[in-house]
This record gives sequence, C-alpha cells and structure tokens, in this order.
Amino acid sequence: MTPPLEPSLATSARRSKGSAPELDPVRLAEWDHAHVWHPFTARDWWESREPLIIHAAEGVELIDLQGRRYLDGVSSLWCNVHGHRHPVIDQAIRDQLDRLAHSTLLGVTHPPAIELAKRLADLAPPGLTRVFFSDNGSTAVESAVKMAFQYWRNKPDPEPDRTLFMTLGDAYHGDTLGDVSLGGIELFHAAFGPLLFPTLRIPTPHPYRDPQRRSPDQVRDHCLGVAERLFQTHGPQVAAVVAEPLIQGAAGLLVHPPGFLKGLRDLCDHYGTLLICDEVAVGFGRTGTMFACEQEKVIPDFLCLAKGITAGYLPLAATLTHERIYNAFLGSPECPKTFYHGHTFSGNPLAAAAALASLRVFEEEKTLETLPPKIAHLRHRLERFARLPQVGDVRGVGLMAGIELVENVETRASFPPAWRIGARVCQRARDYGVLTRPLGDVLVIVPPLVVTIADLDRLFDALEAAWNDVREGRA
Ligand SMILES: *Cc1c(COP(=O)(O)O)cnc(C)c1O
Repeated sequence: MTPPLEPSLATSARRSKGSAPELDPVRLAEWDHAHVWHPFTARDWWESREPLIIHAAEGVELIDLQGRRYLDGVSSLWCNVHGHRHPVIDQAIRDQLDRLAHSTLLGVTHPPAIELAKRLADLAPPGLTRVFFSDNGSTAVESAVKMAFQYWRNKPDPEPDRTLFMTLGDAYHGDTLGDVSLGGIELFHAAFGPLLFPTLRIPTPHPYRDPQRRSPDQVRDHCLGVAERLFQTHGPQVAAVVAEPLIQGAAGLLVHPPGFLKGLRDLCDHYGTLLICDEVAVGFGRTGTMFACEQEKVIPDFLCLAKGITAGYLPLAATLTHERIYNAFLGSPECPKTFYHGHTFSGNPLAAAAALASLRVFEEEKTLETLPPKIAHLRHRLERFARLPQVGDVRGVGLMAGIELVENVETRASFPPAWRIGARVCQRARDYGVLTRPLGDVLVIVPPLVVTIADLDRLFDALEAAWNDVREGRA
C-alpha cells in the first residue's frame, strides 16, 4: 500500500519531552553547526537549514530525533543491503564484540578476516584468489593502483615504463590523491590539479550527452576507438585501465552501452595491460548479480570492493587480485618487492564479522533471486516518471537508477546550477517521508536490496510529488 501523500511539513526542532539532554535537538543542531565539517556538503546550504538528525533505523527506514520515518532511498550512501538492524548481522557483530573488537593484520591474523578472504575468493570471478583488506572504497582503489604500478617494477622481466593509468571521463574512484588523479569530475577534482599525476582519458560512453546523439552501440564503438588510439600511442606505458563496470555512480548514474566493459577487457588483453574494476558501488548485488563484471563475463585483474561489503554496517574494503600479481611481490622484508601499504583498521574483525553475516543473509534470504521483480518494477516506475515534464533521461542497472531533470527536453539543456533543482526536489521528498541525495539535477534511487515493491512505490510516489511541487512553485 502506498501511504497518503500528505506532506508532514515539519516544523522547527523542539525539545522533545522526556529525552535525555544529549538528545536535545536544538543543542545538537547548534553543536553540529559549530563543530562538524560535513563531507561533500556545501556550507552555505548546510548552515542555512535545520539539520536532519538521524537517531535510529529499522528495516528500510531511518528515524529522526523527532520520531519521523524516512525511507532510506540511497541506502545510507549506497551501502545498506539487507536493511538496518538486521537481526543476523546485529548478532554477528555482538558475538564478535564478545571476543575481539580489533587486532591488526600486519604480522598477525584473525579468524573473521581469514574466513572472509576465503568466502570472497570463492564468490569472485575465477582466479581472483588473493584478498587485500583495507577500510573504505578510496583505499580499495588506491591499493589496486599502487599494486598495479609496483607489479610492473617487481615482475621477473620488469616493465618500469608502465606508469600511466587510463580512466574514463567523469570517473570517480574516491578521494585520496591517487583516486582523485584518476577522477574526472571537474567540480570535485579541479581544485587539486597541481597535486595529481597525469592520466589517459577515454570519454565516458554516455549516449544521452553525446553531442551527435548517436546510438548506444555507436557511442560504445566511438569510445572504445578512442581507447584503442590511446593504446596505439601509449600502449607500452599503460600500467592499467581503471573503470567502474556497467554504470558510473557518482558521475550521475551513467549507464554504459552493453559490450563496453568487454571491449575494455579485450583491449587490455591485446595491449598486455591490467584491468582494475572499481565495484565499490556496484558490488554485492546492486546491479542484479553479485558483481557487475559477471554480466559481461569479464574477469578483471583487480576487483575493488567496499560500500556493500558489510551490508552498510561498518567500514571495510577489499582489493582482490590473482596469484600472478601476488607472486611478483615475493621477497625478503628488506627487499623493496614487498607491498609497503596498509591501514590500521584493515580487515577489522567486527567489520569482517558483519561482512560474513551479510553473505550468510544473501544465502538464507536468497537475496539475488528476489531482485528481478523489483528491478522490473523500478524500471516501470522510471518509465512512468519519464512522462512527467522536464524529465530528460531515466536510466539505471539493477537497483541503481537516476532521473535527470532538464530545463529543456528538446535541447537537453540543464537547469542553471544555482537553481539547485535536484537538491530542492530531494528536500521536498523528505516532507513525503523519503530520504535521497541528488547528484546535481540527477535524482538518485539506490534503495537497500531488501526493499519491497510497495517501498519502491512509496519512493517513486514521493519523488513524483516532490518534482511536481518544485516545478509548480510549491517548494
Ligand atoms: C563511493 C565510491 C568510492 C569511494 O569509497 P569511499 O568508501 O567513500 O572512500 C570509490 N569508487 C566508487 C565507484 C564509489 O562509488
């Protein structure tokens, strides 16, 4: 059932009766504004409004201090999988807490990391048997970049000229400087230009923004053609190609034409270089299969995993590779072949226990088998949304979708950024009980995999109502 669409136009924060003083919303808001520096958040926007303070959660809902409930439309930044406070995962973390909260993987080891490495190697595409743990998506990719770079220096017949990375336009691979070097999002990355290493850039295969409006297949072939020409010029210097498989998340949910990933793999093979697949966003069922690269039968040389790995519970990441790469790092401690890279909380036991529990839930609840009807319904609701005015494009893979709002559907001209259309629609959607975070004027729909058809209706009904309100001047 779809709940009624009355905005609950809530109100200035008020001291809620009987709550502990540390949960006083007015004081918390003051302290937040005084002390918290929020990631990826424009200050003028944040400081001009009352903060939404999330205090609890249940299933696919987040609950604020005043007890209002919001459907978690972006899975708490694309990482929640089985819902919040899942009893199996909660219990696994409690059980682990009774034994060991943290011990390092530098020079010692522990059962949750060992077992998780085994499980990931069994699940991943064949041959990716070696698991390097870290603690977030940025470090998962940064580790792969440094491993690939060092591999060419370490291997028995070294190729030290392979120092260049080839990436996609609009790429986003995280926020460490190596990842920012790979990145291609002007707004996020331009400020750091002088600090970055140079990369080779393949245009993003994004048919909606193709100036010549070619078909998806033509756009794919064009972009692969550019990649091929880059290889013809720089082939022996390419250390690796780095790409998000199937869909580029932070770039604005840009769906690649079918065959693009396979084409990249073929080029890497032909020119003898490595492929790094950043599945930080798309791994763990997000696109309908456990890993996105499975859909094009591609086996990368490095598979980078984070966000969904603990079902959105705790920070953890993994970089998987094959034995040929690992074997190039064989050497005594004083020899420079060792991978001198790692993080204090790499493979933390609580996080690894959560990840193992999540994989158990995937099996017990047959999560992947439940997805096709939800994906079909999401498609249906996207197509319905596309019939509203000023909707330029709707696109997605699996349970990961975007709705691009434009000023002019014919010319595909965007709204002036200062109008903050996407942000205003999402702000309004909160009044209808849905929490989502846009990427510019692209509305983002990345719900937990455990959502029901009714939840999807609630999500889309709220976004439709919010878009109508903004367009018609009511919000
Ligand atoms: C989120 C994301 C990252 C960075 O992960 P963090 O955990 O935020 O450091 C890297 N790559 C992709 C594709 C992502 O979506």
